Amino acid sequence: RKPLVIDQEEYICEIRKGSRLHLAKAITFIESTVTDQQTIGQQLLKSLLPFTGSSIRIGITGVPGAGKSTFIESFGKMLVDKGFKVAVLAIDPSSSVTGGSILGDKTRMEELAKHPNAFIRPSPSAGTLGGVHKKSRETMLLCEAAGYDVIFVETVGVGQSETIVRGMVDFFLLLALTGAGDELQGMKKGIMELADAIIVNKTDGTNEKLAKKTVAEYKQILHFLAPSTPNWITPALAVSSLYKTGLNAVWETILQFQSKMMSNQVWQNRRKDQTIDWFKTMIVNKLYDDFFSSMEKKQSMKQLEQLVREEKVTVSQAVEELFSSNSKE
Ligand code: GDP
Repeated sequence: RKPLVIDQEEYICEIRKGSRLHLAKAITFIESTVTDQQTIGQQLLKSLLPFTGSSIRIGITGVPGAGKSTFIESFGKMLVDKGFKVAVLAIDPSSSVTGGSILGDKTRMEELAKHPNAFIRPSPSAGTLGGVHKKSRETMLLCEAAGYDVIFVETVGVGQSETIVRGMVDFFLLLALTGAGDELQGMKKGIMELADAIIVNKTDGTNEKLAKKTVAEYKQILHFLAPSTPNWITPALAVSSLYKTGLNAVWETILQFQSKMMSNQVWQNRRKDQTIDWFKTMIVNKLYDDFFSSMEKKQSMKQLEQLVREEKVTVSQAVEELFSSNSKE
């Protein structure tokens, strides 16, 4: 098989100039499971790394139907109208695992996607946790090098996906619906403690009064929770993504957060910590991948499984055996 060769200089130049096509291809390399494509992706990322770091990274979570895609579309459009470039790492609506949109066939963020200063990348449907891919962080860095000022990383609350996204972003938004009390019962104190702002969406029409009451309830609850970011009082805000109200206040909040956290170094330190956490996660991923892709290990595992089943060895013994350098053939 011929090795894959690309003109790296051209890619880097085009990505820096804002070619969405080249950016999309580079992301495909990064996400690829084919070794030489992966290698190219990593080389591109390495060359582009000096151009990363200057965007605002925003994570956003909420149950399916909370209005994440509607919010990102309206908020994103407001930002591109202000002259910013906006990238979105979005949930793939076709993925049933992530929940996606409750309106399965609706194209998400269609309007925003048409804008020349917006770039929307759905996570691949395989290998994601709540819409977050193992390579989402690297994808985010590529977008940053391509000059995107604001990057959204979207997730639904599946397992650890919120924690993973919190570990990638500067600012974390929880999109909520009316009935804070109910939510506190069912979820999600833990998730509320990850948020830098709680946005009560659908504050419009017949829902408006209840939504405003919910905002007040959240404010009360937030008093008793630890803030996600030191020296920050997590606000609750009312928004209608459909009628585009309250969006500017969200942006103002994010800018205030940025300015405060940059001046007290929390912003910079958090990013450094996140990079180190990423490093550690990658080590674990690599160990995991190497281990489970080893034929030899697979065979020993099968044999040991049988022995465990027959209670001839204990589970701990079997694990020890598996990790001892030369397990029996
Ligand atoms: P997601 O699953 O969290 O991405 O939610 P969607 O953005 O797909 O929204 C789910 C439904 O809620 C859709 O029918 C939207 O039109 C509706 N929706 C989203 N935001 C608002 C809003 O601010 N007000 C109202 N009334 N409906 C909204």
